[in-house]
Amino acid sequence: MQNLRDRPIRQKITFLIMTITAAVLLLAFAALFYFQAYTLKRHSAHELAVIGELTAHECAAAVRFKDEDAATQILTGLRTMPQIVSARLELLDKQRLAFFGSAREEGEIQGARVTSGVKFNGDRILLAQPVTLSGVREGTLYLLADLHATRSQLLKLYGGIFGLVLLACLLLAFALSGQFLRFVTDPILRLADTARTVADHSDYSVRARKVCNDEVGLLTDAFNQMLAQIQAQDSAVRKAEEKYRLIFENAIEGMFQSTPGGKYLNVNAAFARMYGCDSPEEIITQVSDIAQTTYVDSARREEFKRLIETHGVVELFEYEAYRKDGTKMWLCENARAVRDGTGVILYYEGTVQDVTERKRVEEVERASKAKTEFLSRVSHELRTPLNAIIGFGQLLDRQSPTETQRPRIRHILSAGKHLLGLINEVLDISRIEAGKLHLSVEPVAVAAMLEEALDLMRPLAAERKIELCAEVEMDAAVYVMADRQRFKQVLLNLLTNAVKYTPESGQVAVSYYSNGHNNIRITVSDTGPGIPAEKLGRLFMPFERLGAEQSNVEGTGLGLALSQRLMHAMGGAIGVEFSAPRGSKFWVELPRAKSPLPKAAPHKRNGSGRRENSKAVTRKVLYIEDNFSNLTLIEEMFAERPQFELLTAMQGKVGLDLARQHSPDLILLDLHLPDLDGHEVLRQLKSLDTTRDVPVVVISADATASQIDRLMKAGAMAYLTKPLDVVEFFRVVDQTTVTGGTTGTRQKHSAAVLAINEN
Ligand code: ADP
Repeated sequence: MQNLRDRPIRQKITFLIMTITAAVLLLAFAALFYFQAYTLKRHSAHELAVIGELTAHECAAAVRFKDEDAATQILTGLRTMPQIVSARLELLDKQRLAFFGSAREEGEIQGARVTSGVKFNGDRILLAQPVTLSGVREGTLYLLADLHATRSQLLKLYGGIFGLVLLACLLLAFALSGQFLRFVTDPILRLADTARTVADHSDYSVRARKVCNDEVGLLTDAFNQMLAQIQAQDSAVRKAEEKYRLIFENAIEGMFQSTPGGKYLNVNAAFARMYGCDSPEEIITQVSDIAQTTYVDSARREEFKRLIETHGVVELFEYEAYRKDGTKMWLCENARAVRDGTGVILYYEGTVQDVTERKRVEEVERASKAKTEFLSRVSHELRTPLNAIIGFGQLLDRQSPTETQRPRIRHILSAGKHLLGLINEVLDISRIEAGKLHLSVEPVAVAAMLEEALDLMRPLAAERKIELCAEVEMDAAVYVMADRQRFKQVLLNLLTNAVKYTPESGQVAVSYYSNGHNNIRITVSDTGPGIPAEKLGRLFMPFERLGAEQSNVEGTGLGLALSQRLMHAMGGAIGVEFSAPRGSKFWVELPRAKSPLPKAAPHKRNGSGRRENSKAVTRKVLYIEDNFSNLTLIEEMFAERPQFELLTAMQGKVGLDLARQHSPDLILLDLHLPDLDGHEVLRQLKSLDTTRDVPVVVISADATASQIDRLMKAGAMAYLTKPLDVVEFFRVVDQTTVTGGTTGTRQKHSAAVLAINEN
């Protein structure tokens, strides 16, 4: 049966058809046979009854007269009938008159105890026929027929016919099933073929052909529908796989899977590129111990493993790694541990980024910050003693020195100012190079700016008998994009050089024109000695004086270097058009401003006329400063002004108390105090009712724009940088004490003071 189950479906159905055919035939033949056998039995009984009646009638006389011979003769005649196996004729008293057959059969006849009629016993029929003569019963005739032989013959006949019919039927069924089964099995086999193709090639695009509308047709439909769904899902899965594969392969970030043992299982192209490898396979095959091969510090790998094993994830883990060529890089990694069902780590997976550039920038920024802090400190440290040198020098100069002292004092002042210029320029260059220079680029009127610069230059030019002139008609509508103060600084530097290096009675001229590239070119030319061509290449290098150091013309060699950096920072340029032997022509270029904003006329300084006002009243000034020489300097400066009463405090808290008690007209405030920061002192002054309106002028060696801006925003009236210029100092003091603290004047002071500082 198991064997049959594994046979092809066609054989199974053929076998089934033939078995059913055989069974049906057998049943039919059996029924027919038994019917025939029954009919034979009935017919034989009837025949036996007729024979019995005839024989009984024939032998009636023999029975009356007990004529045995006659009776025997009659019975013997019955032997011709093959089915009658025994006959017995007996008298009424059961005495046998004649008999043929065997003793067993006589016993069977006697044992049956029938006196009349037919009795069936299997294949045997026993007839008891009464023998009558003239209506009187004389005896009984018994006939025993055996149908066994007839029946056997019948069986043989039927068996033979059945065998032949069965064979014919089976052959016919086999032949027909071979033909008709195709209708049933072919669609199933076709379906099976399709299923095999799908299974073998994972090709979900094939479809089974539907050839009928029966159950197999339905099955084909369902199968095709299922294939369509699988195909759709398969294509969705493929697309998703493709998408993730592309993300993996084309990601900018490196992606990896690595074992806790230190091997890479999978990496993407970006990861390989990061390490300088040609392909992911190269790094996968060549790295057998990540800690030793790639980590610069293998202890970091241990740290990474410890973190990921403890927390399951590691974020922003930074470490230094070796590239293939041995160079080092900084990497930043995010990773997670992938575990099996029992919690054992199978592998780590994550992303990694090359942060070498960021690290480098951070390093540069750290260095730049350190440099800025250093500069700020140096600036403060150098300016504080310079303040005393220049300040006391100026005081001595004003106190009628002797003829011997005067040139000495001038030397002190000139050397101090030279040093101050040097410090300012070095700091400016450093600031630009550190990217810390704060510029406020806006439309600036060229004509106004040139006039202002020329005005400032006139005293020096007059001193050196140099003619200063503008070569063009000044057009007030021409604007350039520039930082006003820095632009003026560059112009003044060019003009100062021109005046300085041009021999007496020479000429210095300014001019400007549009150079056709939407730029304005401003030129400064002179009739001086010019600069030899071979030295022009070093013109803008710091500390290069190109031989001027041998002359008696003072300078630092930083002016042009600073000017060039300032021009670049403003988006402009600087250069020389020609030089030597006809003199020099320097130029600066700035982008033209298209829609200039209306600007107030340049602020002109006018320090006169205020002294008279201030002389009329006695005013209290509080100076909060911890440096003794600076305190003494200011005290001595105010000694010239008896109308001012000077109060001093060397600590912030003492200063605050004095301010509350005396309500001074002006507070001069240093920022570096031993107890409180000057900024905090200012904040407290501005928060107290008694001191809120007292003008505060900050005096500090810190000249950084951000610091000035911070203090001005916090409420300072003005900001003066050390070393102090005595004239400017008193101008601010006079202005502040005369005008008090109104907002309008306060703006003016700030502008004026800042202008002084920038110069
Ligand atoms: P300095 O402080 O020496 O003037 P600068 O950077 O301004 O420094 O100028 C650098 C050098 O260029 C000067 O020392 C001088 O030799 C030369 N120089 C600059 N301007 C002129 C000029 N107008 N005529 C001649 N030489 C000049």
